Amino acid sequence: MADEFLDHIGAVLKGIEAEGLMKREREITSPQGARVTVARPGEPGRRMLNLCANNYLGLADDPRLVAAAEAATRSHGYGMASVRFICGTTDLHRALERRLAAWLGHEDSILFAACFDANGAVFEPLLGEEDAVISDSLNHASIIDGIRLCKARRFRFANGDMADLEAQLRAAREGGARFVMVATDGVFSMDGYFADLGAVRRLCDAYGALLMVDDCHATGFVGPKGRGTPARAGIAADILTGTFGKALGGALGGYVAGAQPVIDLLRQRARPYLFSNALPPAVVGAALAAIDIAEAADDRRAQLSENAAYWRAGLEALGFSLLPGSHPIVPVMLGDAPLAQSFARELDAEGVMVSAFFFPVVPRGKARIRTQMNAALTREDLDFGLAAFGRAGKAVGVL
Ligand SMILES: *Cc1c(COP(=O)(O)O)cnc(C)c1O
Repeated sequence: MADEFLDHIGAVLKGIEAEGLMKREREITSPQGARVTVARPGEPGRRMLNLCANNYLGLADDPRLVAAAEAATRSHGYGMASVRFICGTTDLHRALERRLAAWLGHEDSILFAACFDANGAVFEPLLGEEDAVISDSLNHASIIDGIRLCKARRFRFANGDMADLEAQLRAAREGGARFVMVATDGVFSMDGYFADLGAVRRLCDAYGALLMVDDCHATGFVGPKGRGTPARAGIAADILTGTFGKALGGALGGYVAGAQPVIDLLRQRARPYLFSNALPPAVVGAALAAIDIAEAADDRRAQLSENAAYWRAGLEALGFSLLPGSHPIVPVMLGDAPLAQSFARELDAEGVMVSAFFFPVVPRGKARIRTQMNAALTREDLDFGLAAFGRAGKAVGVL
């Protein structure tokens, strides 16, 4: 029996390999940054340009965050050894929840181990079978999973298609839904597209619907003071989720921000909050410092925009096919998964770390190299990267 089972698993793995869909991990032996050291068996560590981190503000190796993590560890210890409601809440946890809420313009917030958990937690306690949830077709996997866990009727609209969103809102209302919630990413992570939150908010208001926004690829570097896509669009989301795993230092942790009763109920009922350990003091202390830095980081945000514009223009001049946009996610479209993989391998040989994205994270036939800019990259780094992209593009025959 066990043999049959392992044979079956082995065959699935062979299938993934045969389709060119196998993902392989590189081992980094340095702090995360514009350049990282990558170890390979039998080779000394090699310095590589890193163009695929979510380290948008360049804070992942910031000495101020390392110091804040050390200080919180000294004052509050290493681990909490408890969920929040038993004995896992410190003054730092509550300070971070209040600080986040004040920064993002909500009454309160609640921490989770990751935004994957925040999105998994947020729908089920708030919506019942009398309700409806309407989801953008390109929403992150964690939103999709979170919606699956709740009993509300499910509707879906084509990515960014406001006529379709309106049709789904009408259908939800005609179906007699008590409460309707529209859920969307603020930025769609595979494409770097912004949701049109002004239009989504207007439709929500017209149909009396609530708006939930996942701002993982925006908080800290999009909008005034880094407050994210709702602030950029000049609207308010009813519920906002986000992560400390990207621009805000890149460690881990997620949150939901919203009105006081919503956060209070999540504390009572959200399963990933009730049944999973509290974030460690090091992460909480450093996240507090990361918010202070991010809020004041107009210089880093300006550098990031400048880097994104320079990188995008450089790739276009070389002749690559990009998705349009202005976000620091700059996808280089290649089509085939094996082509995207061999392109990534060529770049690896050039000393450039990128990651090929293919099915199931993007649709079949839409494989790409998702490059990401950050504020720590210098002009020299970008020119090095562009030269490598040019040579690799010729080597695999896409230029
Ligand atoms: C990264 C990401 C998440 C998951 O965040 P974690 O904190 O890493 O779990 C959720 N939603 C979106 C849109 C993301 O990009």
